[in-house]
Amino acid sequence: MKLYNTLTKKIENFIPNEEGKVKMYTCGPTVYHYAHIGNMRNYIGHDILERTLEYLGYDVTRAMNITDVGHLTSDSDSGEDKMEVAKKRENKTAMEIAKFYTEAFFKDFQSLNCKMPDIISPATENIDMYIKMIERLLEKDYAYISGGNIYFDISKLDDYYVLTNHQEDKMVVGVREGVEVDDSKRNQSDFVLWFTTSKFENHELLWDSPWGKGYPGWHIECSGISIKYLGDHLDIHGGGVDNIFPHHTNEIAQSEAYLGHKWCNYWFHNEHLLDESGKMSKSNGEFLTVTLLKEKGYDPLSFRFMCLNSHYRKQLVFSYSALNQAESTYKKLLNRIEAIEDIGELDEGEFSSYNEDFIDNIRNDLNTANALSVLYELLKDDQVNGHTKLELIKKFDKVFALNLIREKSVASNDEEIRSLIEKRDEAKKNKDFELADSIRNELKIRGIELIDTREGTKYKIIGE
Ligand code: AMP
Ligand code: ZN
Repeated sequence: MKLYNTLTKKIENFIPNEEGKVKMYTCGPTVYHYAHIGNMRNYIGHDILERTLEYLGYDVTRAMNITDVGHLTSDSDSGEDKMEVAKKRENKTAMEIAKFYTEAFFKDFQSLNCKMPDIISPATENIDMYIKMIERLLEKDYAYISGGNIYFDISKLDDYYVLTNHQEDKMVVGVREGVEVDDSKRNQSDFVLWFTTSKFENHELLWDSPWGKGYPGWHIECSGISIKYLGDHLDIHGGGVDNIFPHHTNEIAQSEAYLGHKWCNYWFHNEHLLDESGKMSKSNGEFLTVTLLKEKGYDPLSFRFMCLNSHYRKQLVFSYSALNQAESTYKKLLNRIEAIEDIGELDEGEFSSYNEDFIDNIRNDLNTANALSVLYELLKDDQVNGHTKLELIKKFDKVFALNLIREKSVASNDEEIRSLIEKRDEAKKNKDFELADSIRNELKIRGIELIDTREGTKYKIIGE
């Protein structure tokens, strides 16, 4: 498998620490608000990576955190904890906010067919691990106490800026726009491991520590959770490109200082999804969420299809016209697949030749767009019988996860559809239009269109 590594700025041959096994970590969401479709593009990228590794025969163990404390609005040490911002906005406790947005996140995550990581751990559940790490960093003199907080001293490392091409001058946190200078720091790029005083006011979540009551910084969460659940050697760690600095740079610094050896070999970063105004941001305007797309009648997998048509290391611009285009191409693809008759015997020669073509593309730094071209070539190849085609499509779909083979029994299960229609009629009678619309959308996603007539609700299979 060839994978671009942000650490070396090269496409490299992927070799895990232990043969046949991969330990992989994904930075999870900050659950102070809904995750937008930009965040979800990042998780689709990680899902494709995990599925590709599994397709190639690796046994993957993947962990992901849920950030429910410590992520400040600046992404560094100034500003306010994002959970505190949400509390004020919604008049709820931090844990109520976290619970609500964690559930919303996984609902969208799963409707995009993203596999649930083996380990999912909220930052607030691993405080003992961060304390243990910080104690050792203090002992080893990589950390210091100043102004009440515990800071990591970046000058103790030969090269703190390993992930960012050693561009120290451009990367100093203190000189970045909008970031306050902190007089308690020895070096302006030092970062907080544990807050005890300066961000103390009104902070709801506080824990006892050897240095008084406080709470952890954002970066220590991911190092702590990764080392606790995946061990001292990690194969792949990833996130969006905005995580490279300072978040992942700080993770490397503190993890390697704590462990005393190299920690993670491959750093995987997904480029951003932009909206037409530039970077998609959770903080302004209407949230473009997967749930919103569903409410507008889109199939979430059309969005997944749109993402797979571009490369994860290229920016992608979202617009409704691009999504309409993707949805129409995706539905046509499904219809073409549905029309294939399952006839003939498995043609092993054709099967392995197409499968190899497919593998060549996905193992080449996850070239999903070219892997989709292999699928299109297969569809128009008259030399390959229907049964072989369907077996190949089923197999490719282990990576694409686009529900390419529709369960005919579900689509044409008249009884189930009838009972959903009755539920919708009932909802309309009770003026619960939200429920009525959600049933209509649910059926649309499954390829069934409802038609309201004077004689009652009828339905047809879309595309027939
Ligand atoms: P957050 O919830 O803000 O911690 O972000 C969750 C993940 O989404 C992080 O790994 C970010 O790097 C990633 N991310 C944020 N914005 C975008 C975007 N516009 N496109 C793709 N990924 C993003
Ligand atoms: Zn992280």
